[in-house]
Amino acid sequence: MSIKTISILGSTGSIGCSTLDVIEKTNNNFSNGIGDVKFEIVALTANRAHRQLIEQAKKFKPKMVVLVEKEHGDELISELKPLGIKISFGSDALIEAAQMQSDMIMAAIVGAAGLGPTIEAAKRGANILLANKECLVCAGEVFLKTAKQNGAKILPVDSEHNAIFQVLQNPNEVEKLILTASGGPFLNTNIDNLYNVTPEQAVAHPNWQMGRKISVDCASLMNKGLELIEASMLFEMPEDRIDVLIHPQSIIHSMVSYKDGSFLAQLGTPDMRIPISYCMGWPNRLQIDSPRLNLAQIRNLEFHAPDNNRFPALGLARLAMRLGGSATTILNAANEVAVNEFLNCKLPFMQIPTIVCKILDMAQGNGNIVALNDLSEVFNADEWARAKTFEELSK
Ligand code: NDP
Ligand code: MG
Repeated sequence: MSIKTISILGSTGSIGCSTLDVIEKTNNNFSNGIGDVKFEIVALTANRAHRQLIEQAKKFKPKMVVLVEKEHGDELISELKPLGIKISFGSDALIEAAQMQSDMIMAAIVGAAGLGPTIEAAKRGANILLANKECLVCAGEVFLKTAKQNGAKILPVDSEHNAIFQVLQNPNEVEKLILTASGGPFLNTNIDNLYNVTPEQAVAHPNWQMGRKISVDCASLMNKGLELIEASMLFEMPEDRIDVLIHPQSIIHSMVSYKDGSFLAQLGTPDMRIPISYCMGWPNRLQIDSPRLNLAQIRNLEFHAPDNNRFPALGLARLAMRLGGSATTILNAANEVAVNEFLNCKLPFMQIPTIVCKILDMAQGNGNIVALNDLSEVFNADEWARAKTFEELSK
């Protein structure tokens, strides 16, 4: 029997809730004599979903909770303090939560906001269950170096990278990585109509239930662009050896091709609890009740090349990868601002890649693409790009 301790950064989000579901089921299994792993929660964190955080804390009894926006902090104090749960507020408290001793940490905050606390967990050598791809996109080299120096193991939660992690045998024999992409809700929408799509249409992903920001990224294929960068960092693979393949059913989660012409793929239903539980149980698998794949019922799996005109984000991500250094940080920051503006109905959907392209061009022209040696340089590049994007949007 083993008891594993875990903290969840971003417990109120889509990945956070799926992680709690895996914990609940695994602990129930344990009580019923199935499996020999039980999880105890050290810290849960949220940005502003205070009611949801309170309910999670009452149910899962962590040692600590963090709420970044303390507007409703008094409710946390009155309901959770009597349970002996430590309560902290503000973004500095995320660092405190990440520093608390635990075997593993689920990094599931959305955006560059997840970077600081996740690096903090890497500094203490925890297993990092990495959903927050922004750590690798914005600060890949700094993050990986910190993890390596402190013996922190990075376990990729993102379904494509998790698939590759599962089928990667001998890295020296790999020819290519093939990231699959569903193509999102606008795969077959007439390009002319893409100028008028609403946030609600963009977040209605055909296969996956996710947070709003990543759902918009899936619709523009910027998510796949960010995943190209993530894969290149994680698996030390150059840009030209990572392909993207549209696969609308989201059954094959990604593939690795080898020098003898063999392709290895990982398949499963589109359920994030599968990659989450793989990381939580690693190097073993947990028993979970995800819907099983029925290929006889599905019958057809389709594949085709991505349309780069419809989805310019892919080309932008590849450009940023070739430029290296701060280029991917800048790409991510400009995209975060633009997506937020789109979600607030202040920017048309097709303007998202246009504005990201402008900011990347500007960075190249101004000599802002530089090597990033530490976290403060990463934050500087991120701030520069956000400020420039706002400036551009206000014109
Ligand atoms: P959600 O938007 O559903 O959840 C985000 C979580 O982060 C919430 O707990 C939210 O708190 C918290 N949060 C948001 N902003 C801040 C902030 N500034 N400071 C601290 N906490 C914050 O996102 P997802 O779960 O969909 O995604 C999380 C990460 O995982 C992203 O990086 C995404 O790219 C990645 N990912 C997600 C997948 C998915 O299926 N959802 C698949 C693969 C990767 P609150 O609820 O209070 O707002
Ligand atoms: Mg993914």
